[in-house]
Amino acid sequence: MSRFLDCEIAEMAGVRADVGEEVFNRWFDKSEIKGRLKKVCMDEQGLRCCYCRKFDNTTNNLIWDLEHVLCELYYPQFFASDDNLAVACKRCNNAKKHEDVLRPQPRPDPRIEEVPQQPECYSIPHPRFDAWSDHLSHVNYQIYSSDTDKGVELMRVCKLNEPAVDQAGLDHESVVAAIKTQFFQIVDNAVSAPPPDEEILVRMARGVQNLEDERAAMTLAGLAPKLRALGRKAGRRNMEQSIAEARALAAPPAKPPKEKISEGRALSLVASVGGPRARYSLSDLRDN
Ligand SMILES: [Zn+2]
Repeated sequence: MSRFLDCEIAEMAGVRADVGEEVFNRWFDKSEIKGRLKKVCMDEQGLRCCYCRKFDNTTNNLIWDLEHVLCELYYPQFFASDDNLAVACKRCNNAKKHEDVLRPQPRPDPRIEEVPQQPECYSIPHPRFDAWSDHLSHVNYQIYSSDTDKGVELMRVCKLNEPAVDQAGLDHESVVAAIKTQFFQIVDNAVSAPPPDEEILVRMARGVQNLEDERAAMTLAGLAPKLRALGRKAGRRNMEQSIAEARALAAPPAKPPKEKISEGRALSLVASVGGPRARYSLSDLRDN
């Protein structure tokens, strides 16, 4: 089922038919439809980035990026396609940029008009067609690992290990050691026989995730009425108004105001014209 509302689908079709793809995409990027869809994605993804799965307890549209799995540079036709969209954190979105994740390559020619639905058409785990955890695991969202091609590719494309490994100089062992320290602080050293590392990691990860999920549930409960209001607003929008907005984006930019010409600049212009004599005398220019 589409995450766009029927009225939004009709609105987008009307605008696209009127102004063409390039202007439609510019219009969509600024539209309230995009703003509402971002919030739907936040809800669906539980405030977690579609690639690194990190949690951010906010529904602010400025904090989350709308991610185009097949990027707009090569696939402008999917700029507003439901199955091509998810929310990502800014770090992953910036890292992925224009990476082309469609397989096989080279890019299809002529271009395809439908978003490919099969997971094997993508070089990375698709936010909608793959289960993230089938491809990746992590130690406290700091060190990621994978034993599938797609997972390894996502680690490369989104530089998932860069913050911990390159910037903080952490490795798997140091992260595990930090988590174990935290674990023993939490249980107050009261364990007679310390559980094995794997169990500590699983218990800590579960604890972190439960806490984040609880916070997400509270935040998303506040989002629900907002989404209902945005849905009602979408139903009230008028197609003519939307088309007018899109046409305004298509209009050529207003001419820059006439530059006031200085005397020195005027003289050099006159000189550059050359010829047997200057076309204007200095007094002509002064009068202007
Ligand atoms: Zn991310």
